[in-house]
Amino acid sequence: MSDVKARILALREQLDSYNYQYYVEDAPSVPDAEYDRLMRELVALEQAHPELLDPDSPSQKVGGAPVSAFPEVQHALPMLSLDNVFSDEELAAFEKRVMDRLDRAEPLDFCCEPKLDGLAVSLVYEQGRLVQAATRGDGSTGEGITENVRTIRAVPLKLKGEGWPARLEVRGEVYMPRAGFEKMNEDARAEGGKVFANPRNAAAGSLRQLDSRVTARRPLAFYCYGVGLVEGDALAERHFDILQQLKGWGLPVCPEIKRVQGRAGCQAYHDDILARRDRLPYEIDGVVYKVDELALQQQLGFVARAPRWATAHKFPAQEELTRLLKVEFQV
Ligand code: NAD
Repeated sequence: MSDVKARILALREQLDSYNYQYYVEDAPSVPDAEYDRLMRELVALEQAHPELLDPDSPSQKVGGAPVSAFPEVQHALPMLSLDNVFSDEELAAFEKRVMDRLDRAEPLDFCCEPKLDGLAVSLVYEQGRLVQAATRGDGSTGEGITENVRTIRAVPLKLKGEGWPARLEVRGEVYMPRAGFEKMNEDARAEGGKVFANPRNAAAGSLRQLDSRVTARRPLAFYCYGVGLVEGDALAERHFDILQQLKGWGLPVCPEIKRVQGRAGCQAYHDDILARRDRLPYEIDGVVYKVDELALQQQLGFVARAPRWATAHKFPAQEELTRLLKVEFQV
């Protein structure tokens, strides 16, 4: 076996095992920056050696398999991940790819959003009432966690106002605000309970509890950032405007979301949020840029695990291996 093939197989095995720890056990053993480094190495090797591509590679998949303790929920539209950019040059390449594909010369409108570090969920409202909540799972099948989500105060059980579609699937992030996370870990330390490595794992662990009374005691919050399958044509034609509609119906939308023009607007948004990162009441690991016009999103479509019309601009890593190991050591 060639060295490249051996390295690819080793990376796939290692990333599969990190995925299991992260998505199924809610207990990562390495920081995200380390995971991201290995994933980028794998993607680069696979791109350079397309003959070694495998649809089962972790580079082609979303999330982890759903846990059988929860009922399975099939997503009507897949819940995908996001591509990443890590630098100004990669952001420029993203904009160029999008404009070339759309054959556009003028800067496009983008909706810019904080990339909340929590857990993606899908909420289905029928006739304005919350009837189903599910995790992303592997993107096509998630875990039914309706009872747990019903305990989150930020999630309306009934939509406000009028004009909402008969069936509305909302997508967003369940997260744990910093203050709640710190207090929860302090209490756990005092009582000798489980201490979580970071708010993301705390949110995921709290949401995927078999007893919803446990979830109800955890300081979880929710922001929505999009829609899934919608029946009826009550929605606006631009992503930013849809978020304003959702807000009007009582769904929480992050106040930091902004519409900007072109890469320059995205970059300015990125720099502003990065400068204020530590003062935000929740943890974020970057910002997300989405092509605002839905018609253009449709033209751009998807690749295996992510839409072509969006990308996450990741922030430099805060979490170092030593810190993570130290936290684990204290457990
Ligand atoms: P991702 O977290 O990079 O991006 C997709 C997710 O972003 C969505 O599913 C959604 O949950 C979230 N999101 C937050 N704000 C959003 C917004 N405004 N709009 C849209 N989505 C938003 O991708 P992923 O596939 O969920 O996870 C991959 C990342 O998870 C890796 O890059 C790594 O950082 C981390 N990870 C770490 C380990 C580990 O062992 N440390 C293992 C697996 C994954």
